[in-house]
Amino acid sequence: MNWDSAPMVFVTAPACPVCLSVKPIIVRSEQGGDGSTSRKCVCRRCSSRFVLVIEAPLPEFGKTAEDIS
Ligand SMILES: [Zn+2]
Repeated sequence: MNWDSAPMVFVTAPACPVCLSVKPIIVRSEQGGDGSTSRKCVCRRCSSRFVLVIEAPLPEFGKTAEDIS
Protein backbone atom coordinates (compact mmCIF):
# COMPACT_ATOMS: atom_id res chain seq x y z
CA MET A 1 0.00 0.00 0.00
CA ASN A 2 1.37 3.39 -1.00
CA TRP A 3 0.69 5.98 1.70
CA ASP A 4 2.37 8.80 -0.25
CA SER A 5 -0.77 9.39 -2.32
CA ALA A 6 -3.25 8.97 0.54
CA PRO A 7 -5.15 12.17 1.38
CA MET A 8 -4.68 13.69 4.81
CA VAL A 9 -7.66 14.33 7.07
CA PHE A 10 -7.06 16.84 9.81
CA VAL A 11 -8.88 16.60 13.12
CA THR A 12 -8.29 19.68 15.20
CA ALA A 13 -8.81 20.11 18.90
CA PRO A 14 -12.16 21.64 19.85
CA ALA A 15 -11.76 25.37 20.28
CA CYS A 16 -13.84 28.16 21.72
CA PRO A 17 -15.76 29.90 18.88
CA VAL A 18 -15.11 33.29 20.48
CA CYS A 19 -11.46 33.34 21.54
CA LEU A 20 -10.22 30.08 19.96
CA SER A 21 -8.87 28.77 23.24
CA VAL A 22 -8.48 25.00 22.91
CA LYS A 23 -9.03 24.00 26.52
CA PRO A 24 -12.74 24.23 27.22
CA ILE A 25 -14.20 22.97 30.47
CA ILE A 26 -16.67 20.19 29.67
CA VAL A 27 -19.69 20.66 31.89
CA ARG A 28 -21.73 17.71 30.76
CA SER A 29 -21.73 15.10 28.06
CA GLU A 30 -24.84 13.68 26.38
CA GLN A 31 -25.20 10.80 23.96
CA GLY A 32 -27.29 11.41 20.87
CA GLY A 33 -29.37 8.60 19.39
CA ASP A 34 -27.30 8.50 16.20
CA GLY A 35 -23.97 7.77 17.87
CA SER A 36 -23.06 11.41 18.22
CA THR A 37 -22.06 12.97 21.51
CA SER A 38 -22.75 16.55 22.50
CA ARG A 39 -20.75 18.19 25.22
CA LYS A 40 -21.71 21.37 26.95
CA CYS A 41 -18.59 23.43 27.37
CA VAL A 42 -17.51 26.62 29.06
CA CYS A 43 -14.41 28.39 27.83
CA ARG A 44 -11.65 28.59 30.39
CA ARG A 45 -10.46 31.93 29.03
CA CYS A 46 -13.52 34.00 28.09
CA SER A 47 -16.34 32.07 29.81
CA SER A 48 -18.32 31.65 26.58
CA ARG A 49 -20.70 28.73 26.56
CA PHE A 50 -20.89 26.44 23.56
CA VAL A 51 -21.94 22.92 22.65
CA LEU A 52 -19.37 20.61 21.17
CA VAL A 53 -20.84 17.92 18.92
CA ILE A 54 -18.77 14.84 18.15
CA GLU A 55 -20.48 13.33 15.17
CA ALA A 56 -19.55 9.69 15.52
CA PRO A 57 -17.08 7.57 17.44
CA LEU A 58 -13.72 7.35 15.76
CA PRO A 59 -13.08 3.81 14.59
CA GLU A 60 -10.32 1.87 16.27
CA PHE A 61 -7.29 0.90 14.26
CA GLY A 62 -8.10 -1.82 11.79
CA LYS A 63 -11.85 -1.29 12.04
CA THR A 64 -14.32 0.68 10.00
CA ALA A 65 -17.02 2.92 11.45
CA GLU A 66 -19.65 0.35 10.48
CA ASP A 67 -18.08 -2.27 12.76
CA ILE A 68 -18.79 -0.20 15.84
CA SER A 69 -22.52 0.33 15.48
ZN1 LIG B 1 -13.23 31.58 24.78
